[in-house]
Amino acid sequence: MLPRISVVKKIKKVRIVPGCISCGSCEAICPSVFVVTDVARVIDAADPNTESEMVREAADMCPVSVIQVDEEIE
Ligand code: SF4
Repeated sequence: MLPRISVVKKIKKVRIVPGCISCGSCEAICPSVFVVTDVARVIDAADPNTESEMVREAADMCPVSVIQVDEEIE
C-alpha cells in the first residue's frame, strides 16, 4: 500500500478584479475577509487562511467570478 500524502494549500493572496456587481454574497459568506460598500474589497487586516474554506466558497459563489484566490502548496 502506498503512503497517504496530504496536500495542504495555503492562500497566498486574495484579490477582487474589476467587475464586481455588489451582490453582497462574498460578505455574507465570509464577513471577516470581505466587505461590500460600493464594490467588494478584501479587508486589509484579514488573514484569509483563518477561514480558507469560506474564502474559497465565496470565490466559487461569486456570480461574476471576480474573486481571485492565489494558493501555494505547503
Ligand atoms: S460575490 Fe462577487 S459580485 Fe458579489 S459582492 Fe462579492 S465580489 Fe462582488
